[in-house]
Amino acid sequence: MAEFTMELNDEQKEVRDWLHGFAADVIRPAAAEWDEREETPWPVIQEAAKVGIYSLDFYAQQYFDPTGLGIPMAMEELFWGDAGIALSIVGTGLAAVGVLANGTEEQIGTWIPQMYGDASDVKVAAFCSSEPDAGSDVASMRTRAVYDEAKDEWVINGTKTWATNGGIANVHVVVAVVDPELGSKGHASFIIPPNTPGLAQGQKFKKHGIRASHTAEVVLDNVRVPGSCLLGGKEKLDERLARAREKAKKGGERVKNAAMATFEASRPAVGAMAVGTARAAYEVALDYATTREQFGRPIIDNQGVAFQLADMRTSIDAARLLVWRASWMAVNGKPFTAAEGSMSKLFASETAKKVTAQAIQILGGNGYTREYPVERMHRDAAIYTIFEGTSEIQRLVIARTISGMSVR
Ligand SMILES: Cc1cc2nc3c(=O)[nH]c(=O)nc-3n(C[C@H](O)[C@H](O)[C@H](O)COP(=O)(O)OP(=O)(O)OC[C@H]3O[C@@H](n4cnc5c(N)ncnc54)[C@H](O)[C@@H]3O)c2cc1C
Repeated sequence: MAEFTMELNDEQKEVRDWLHGFAADVIRPAAAEWDEREETPWPVIQEAAKVGIYSLDFYAQQYFDPTGLGIPMAMEELFWGDAGIALSIVGTGLAAVGVLANGTEEQIGTWIPQMYGDASDVKVAAFCSSEPDAGSDVASMRTRAVYDEAKDEWVINGTKTWATNGGIANVHVVVAVVDPELGSKGHASFIIPPNTPGLAQGQKFKKHGIRASHTAEVVLDNVRVPGSCLLGGKEKLDERLARAREKAKKGGERVKNAAMATFEASRPAVGAMAVGTARAAYEVALDYATTREQFGRPIIDNQGVAFQLADMRTSIDAARLLVWRASWMAVNGKPFTAAEGSMSKLFASETAKKVTAQAIQILGGNGYTREYPVERMHRDAAIYTIFEGTSEIQRLVIARTISGMSVR
């Protein structure tokens, strides 16, 4: 087990500086354009693929870094560049992790390369869980997968919504109900291969922020996929369902929810994205406050401004510490006895919203215009308290974990 450290090693510093260079030279200059266009920034993804940032190898290297700091460091730098473009670059990783976590070796080897494509022909992937009536309440999911034993195929019907890269992805990972009696324990994940008939993009959403990231509905109408597309395979699913039915029969027994453990491990990554956006806005505000003069002196000469910056920096550093602690815990298999993963996401995302609003205030009229990036950063920051579990859901998870009560 790696000891918890706040010091990046030389190799990590090198990767951080390389990512920062890409974020500063390629992502940040393109941010305003793709925000206005509200389209996937394919040329930037391609550029990231060329240098090796958009690849499974890079993602896996950071994911398996034993210090746990690889992913948060990478997320912070890319999202410091721009949140919408960075989400377009890392969105595929969310689907890839779904396959890495639940798939067989064969599924990992077959599908993950098709999620990324290559530098001359980049592809993206989508992870589709949310539905119009099943956002926070995942157990109300309706998309149904039924096994056709004669053909060894699964038939999937339903509508997914708010899917990042939904409809434009080469490979979609879709969560569906296989046993409606079991609530969220009766769900399974499926690969939908490229060009599968019956899968179509529904509405593409026009959004408040992260507008360079594509978000859309995905409609599944009698989609048929081979049995081999069930992540983890049929035998493992049957065993898992049998265990869940047995526990449900006994009643009252608290079922350990593997999905919750996975969320605790993945939420710090979203926290790190929020830290990146918050830090970007703070840096712009600090720079502005030291150069903008009113009443014959820089505005930072006023405690009212300087103290805001002091608070902003303190919150950002505190958020990063929570994120790094939770990431280290996840990689080293430490139990999340106080839902530390949710804690880190809650604090970092609320920090990003607050700090970006403070940055607008410090820039005054300029902060409110699109001539300066803090207005965009504030719009972008609003997503962090919503996706991968809203702030209210994080508080619910933390409250339940620290009290052992079924807080509602
Ligand atoms: C830009 C974007 C990208 C996304 N990408 C993906 C993706 O790639 N894949 C995917 O599957 N999903 C994705 N999502 C969906 C996202 O995860 C959901 O929006 C989120 O889980 C919240 O669900 P909801 O929108 O239905 O809100 P609701 O669940 O309807 O919540 C509405 C409000 O009620 C509150 N609330 C709900 N229940 C409780 C409770 N028990 N206690 C207290 N408050 C409560 C919530 O906190 C929130 O404030 C994305 C969403 C967006 C906006």
